[in-house]
Amino acid sequence: MSYTARVLEQAKRKNPNEPEFHQTLTEILPTLQPYLDEHPEYESAGILERLVEPERQLMFRVPWIDDAGRVQVNRGYRVQFNSAIGPYKGGLRFHPSVNLSIVKFLGFEQIFKNSLTGLPIGGAKGGADFDPKGKSDREIMAFCQSFICEMFRHIGADMDIPAGDIGVGGREVGYLYGQYKRLTGLYEGAFTGKGLAYGGSLARTEATGYGLVYMAENMLGALGTNLNNKTTVISGSGNVAIFAAEKAAQFGAKVVAMSDSNGYIHDSEGIDLEVVKEIKLKRRGRIREYLEYRKKAQYHENEIIWSIPCEIALPCATQNELLEDGARLLIKNGCEIVAEGSNMSASLSAVRLLQENGVSFAPGKAANAGGVAVSALEMAQNSARIAWSFEEADHKLRKIMHDIYASSCAAAERYGMKGDLAAGANIAGFRRVAKAMLEQGAV
Ligand code: NDP
Repeated sequence: MSYTARVLEQAKRKNPNEPEFHQTLTEILPTLQPYLDEHPEYESAGILERLVEPERQLMFRVPWIDDAGRVQVNRGYRVQFNSAIGPYKGGLRFHPSVNLSIVKFLGFEQIFKNSLTGLPIGGAKGGADFDPKGKSDREIMAFCQSFICEMFRHIGADMDIPAGDIGVGGREVGYLYGQYKRLTGLYEGAFTGKGLAYGGSLARTEATGYGLVYMAENMLGALGTNLNNKTTVISGSGNVAIFAAEKAAQFGAKVVAMSDSNGYIHDSEGIDLEVVKEIKLKRRGRIREYLEYRKKAQYHENEIIWSIPCEIALPCATQNELLEDGARLLIKNGCEIVAEGSNMSASLSAVRLLQENGVSFAPGKAANAGGVAVSALEMAQNSARIAWSFEEADHKLRKIMHDIYASSCAAAERYGMKGDLAAGANIAGFRRVAKAMLEQGAV
């Protein structure tokens, strides 16, 4: 049995009932085998056995009081997975589905993603099974403050720097950071995604979505084409989806569909993004409200967004939102590229199907790395007590996305998997972390 197969089997046995964590291990570990064959020193040093075991996992009670005066209790998580190349870095997700398996899958992916950016950041992820939907601002604040009452002792500018993810945007980061500052007395960059008035970086809000489109630009460039006039379908209508739609439209693409967890809108004339921003960012409403503004658009509930013919598909909602049936529809309708805005958007079988049928595919750890990359730029600005212009941050982001694309392609080709960006990104991300772990001894 190969080294990667053995560690995969051990990790699955040791972590039962963690399907999402198993899924990410199954996707990543086998692709590392050609590299490990060339570097037997990593097996001797037990690098994989160490890599799959988080350095630290925290689970804690988060009690808070709702507007009716009742005590509510949620469960908080922080998995500090790997600090070989820098302090722990990764977002917080507030969603009722959050559990240890999901936080571990996200944390494991984050190790590779952060390494791919070339910046000094280790991998972590956290969150809570808290549902921000329908909560008042006061309830959100009460929850965030209680969450930080435990978390504050485990994070810090040079230790662990959380940020946003699903259900955690600018409002939540503000409340979390405010409470952190109050408890520690430190005005430091212990969070990224902060407001511009207190240390946030220009272009951070846009970074994941814009970066995703910069990745698409590279993928299409390799096919000898670009985004101009390409019909584009984007799932989700949150932070990543909205700014992916914005940048895609700037590059001349026609975004015809977006969604939320209830359904999707289809506007064949092209989505009016200002309307989506009004509904989602200001009113915190549902995507079906789009029809109040654009009568000709259609709304579909409980249907699959990937049935809409498109050349570019950008899943930007959540894990496993693109399965085999969706992949088949995309292939049938002539889709050219799929780039993951969400983490592990596509199942392993969907990815295989896309690749076998000539659809260019970029995995989340490469395609959505723009968010954490600009987060690391926010950390650099905080440390230096400076602020870059939007153009400067955006320019650096575009270069980082180009470099991630190039290093993933090169690694795939070097290890006999030419064109397989998923395998290439895994190897390119792994190399740096494995080397750092080896050089730091058995820790
Ligand atoms: P938001 O909370 O801003 O938006 C999430 C969107 O996805 C919403 O439209 C939401 O719909 C939808 N969604 C969430 N969960 C589900 C679900 N279970 N089923 C169907 N739809 C769902 O999150 P982000 O835009 O920040 O994150 C989206 C994805 O991008 C996540 O996978 C995240 O891990 C990834 N990502 C985010 C980064 C960032 O910088 N924010 C960085 C890198 C990756 P509804 O409102 O109905 O819940």
